[in-house]
Amino acid sequence: MSRPHLYLKGGFSFHRSIAERVTDVVDEAILEKYRKAGKVAAEAANYARTLVKPGLPVLDLGTKIEKFILDEGVGLSFPVNLSIDDVAAHYSPPIDDTLVLPEKGLLKIDLGTHADGYIADHAITVDIGKTGGVYQDLIKAAEAGLQVVVENFRAGQNVVHIGKLVEDAIVKRGFLPIRNLGGHNLEQFNLHGGVFVPNTGSGYPYVLKEGDVFAVEPFSTNGAGHVVDGTSKFIYRFNKRSKHQLPMPLASYLEMIRRQCSTLPFSPRWLEGKIPKERIMPSIIELARKDLLQAYPLLMERAGGLVAQAEHTVIVHKDSAEITTVS
Ligand code: MN
Ligand code: MN
Repeated sequence: MSRPHLYLKGGFSFHRSIAERVTDVVDEAILEKYRKAGKVAAEAANYARTLVKPGLPVLDLGTKIEKFILDEGVGLSFPVNLSIDDVAAHYSPPIDDTLVLPEKGLLKIDLGTHADGYIADHAITVDIGKTGGVYQDLIKAAEAGLQVVVENFRAGQNVVHIGKLVEDAIVKRGFLPIRNLGGHNLEQFNLHGGVFVPNTGSGYPYVLKEGDVFAVEPFSTNGAGHVVDGTSKFIYRFNKRSKHQLPMPLASYLEMIRRQCSTLPFSPRWLEGKIPKERIMPSIIELARKDLLQAYPLLMERAGGLVAQAEHTVIVHKDSAEITTVS
């Protein structure tokens, strides 16, 4: 079975049904938590948009967005992703990052919140230099893809049919969808429940049920329409405890990560002040080498194309989808 990714990548060969919900009763108290997380995610994205300008340190942008979310009284379901141009996903500023926003480019702001483990996953794309042209066209194509998903997402609908509509919407605008990235269902403290919503007309034909919660996320590109793993890794996640006795302080670091972040992805930045700074990266790399942490490599457009993304979290109802990520 493929390992979970922040973005469910690598195709649709594996599938697990949403089996945990054994009754058809949709728990309103849980839906309220999804809504609370969603509202904060939308407000954080609006706030982030006002900050974007060429020359802004990406680390400043990331820490401000994460602080905004925490100040609203919800948790971070993953470190904010600030991926530029052909980096489709998984760039989150590392400790002491020196990267600044370029004069022109496509910035994907992908952020995650949670209330008691119930997650909102939301992304917008910003034309950093207000360059227009292909930058704006790619954003419009991703947004058109997202709109067609939202309009067609309802109980009884097949996700492959929705994927085909997304593909058509993006191709009609002269671009390609990224075929190995897509939407995913959400469960408590689980960013990827195992069901994939393709951005093309092929995949596992899951039929949506009332009460399902999904993140849906079309990506548009002027490249190959495919992402590959980069070499850099800026996001990690607790994977499992060690079968063997770990040396100290490694054992205590792993336990600290598990307590602080549960099974949700985290940034090494979040360990500053808790672990001596010079020990953070060597410890994380060692824990990842032992497979106790999972690392998320950058996802790069294979042909170096520009990438735009638009993402909402939605609750499936009988005749419609309710977007939680609205302010
Ligand atoms: Mn996302
Ligand atoms: Mn997502």
